[in-house]
Amino acid sequence: MAEDTPLSQVDALEDAAESTSATSACCGNHPSFDRKDGEVDLSPLVAVLQFTATAEKEHNFRICSELIRKARRRGVEMVFLPEGFDFLSENAAQSMSLSEPLTGPIITGYRKLAQELGIWLSLGGFHLKDEWDKKSHNSHLIIDSSGNVIATYRKAHLCILSIPNKVTLDESLSSIPGTRILPPVQSPIGKIGLMCCYDLRFPEMASLLTHQGAEILAYPAAFTMQTGIAHWEPLLKARAIENQCYVIAAAQYGQHNQHRISYGHAMIVDPWGTILAQCQDGPGIAIAEINLDRLHGIRKSMPVQTHRRTDLYRLSMGPVNHFDPSRETYKFGHIDIQSGKVFYETALSVAFVNLKPIRPGHVLMIPKRSVERFTNLTHEEISDLFEMTQAVMKMLEKKYGAAASTIAVQDGHDAGQTVKHVHVHLIPRTPGDFDEDDIYKELESRDREKVRQARVSTDMEAEAREYKSLLYCNGLKI
Ligand code: AMP
Repeated sequence: MAEDTPLSQVDALEDAAESTSATSACCGNHPSFDRKDGEVDLSPLVAVLQFTATAEKEHNFRICSELIRKARRRGVEMVFLPEGFDFLSENAAQSMSLSEPLTGPIITGYRKLAQELGIWLSLGGFHLKDEWDKKSHNSHLIIDSSGNVIATYRKAHLCILSIPNKVTLDESLSSIPGTRILPPVQSPIGKIGLMCCYDLRFPEMASLLTHQGAEILAYPAAFTMQTGIAHWEPLLKARAIENQCYVIAAAQYGQHNQHRISYGHAMIVDPWGTILAQCQDGPGIAIAEINLDRLHGIRKSMPVQTHRRTDLYRLSMGPVNHFDPSRETYKFGHIDIQSGKVFYETALSVAFVNLKPIRPGHVLMIPKRSVERFTNLTHEEISDLFEMTQAVMKMLEKKYGAAASTIAVQDGHDAGQTVKHVHVHLIPRTPGDFDEDDIYKELESRDREKVRQARVSTDMEAEAREYKSLLYCNGLKI
């Protein structure tokens, strides 16, 4: 506890931490969650944190760090903080002035704390402000026990609600929505799907993360009193049951300022839908065990995820930009494509400029997975690849003043495929550029492929840079 924390607050924290309950669940009794040093062979313990944030950032930090220390003393390996753990402001202007970059004092403080205690942290609802942005991103960070920020998810669904005479909230006044769903993050407690508060109302996102391997769904939140009373618990239980995941939901509680009051009830729900632990009123923590054997047992006995009727409906990611700056090459059959030649990348597909285009603007789109035939693609890969093709086509037609394009897949050797990796040729067309079907002869001709001059890398990279900037101008989400 920092020296200058008011004594009344210290008492409240002591009481809250002691009164925190962990209800016994059908997975067995948890007589005590206090774990001694050196005690092994038990499932990891996690804690959800609940408190009442205000606009006083240092005060909020002191309260949270004290609760994190308490959790650590009880053997907890990962603590989950609520949305707005850094601050909850009185208005949009104040929020913007209090927001910080990742390198600011708040995250630096939590990184040091994680390292000092050797604990993992989920910091939900951090007001992340990049210097070039006018508004902040409501973001959910994971910090590992060495103090590294290993994931930053930016909240996709911004809460905009207006319940007459009760509550109004418009997050879009101060926040920019995120444009990516992060793959589940591997941690000592399992694979965590990162979401934030209002995302809880969009079950597709949780299902997609589960499909990608999530075992734990984390929803740091600041539910309002009205929506919390009606929806908080049933939504959390529903996400846990339908995805057969642990749901960890840290929460803001109580009166933050004269405009805002939060429902609280931070809780941990198991994959059967049982509430394992829940915070009482006031600041505190609730602790529970994450038992992945139990989770996989439930999934095995009731394999709901494998019963999905993907012939009737689908779960798939939008084709959002997904550049991986650390990646140097991409596999295109036996060829390595240098990242400088790539101008668009999604989770599943890549677009790059052509070594031997048959005319300007002739580019290629491929699935990231090296697959020879179109019939081997999954439905997610097909939709991603063709949605990417559509976005690139719009950009190229504008650039080359074309009102038509040829899209071709030479699917297999006999169809003229020379590189054994599904690829879509996209060629913007202008009137009279080819006689009749000559474009197909050109695409299929192996002889011409041999004689056509390969371009130099610098030209290809300049072309990729130009396409990238044109795609961003056209509103491609990054
Ligand atoms: P296909 O003959 O249908 O298999 O098409 C192969 C395509 O890959 C042709 O358009 C080639 O110009 C293109 N290509 C081959 N090698 C490279 C490379 N290293 N970088 C970019 N494009 C390539």
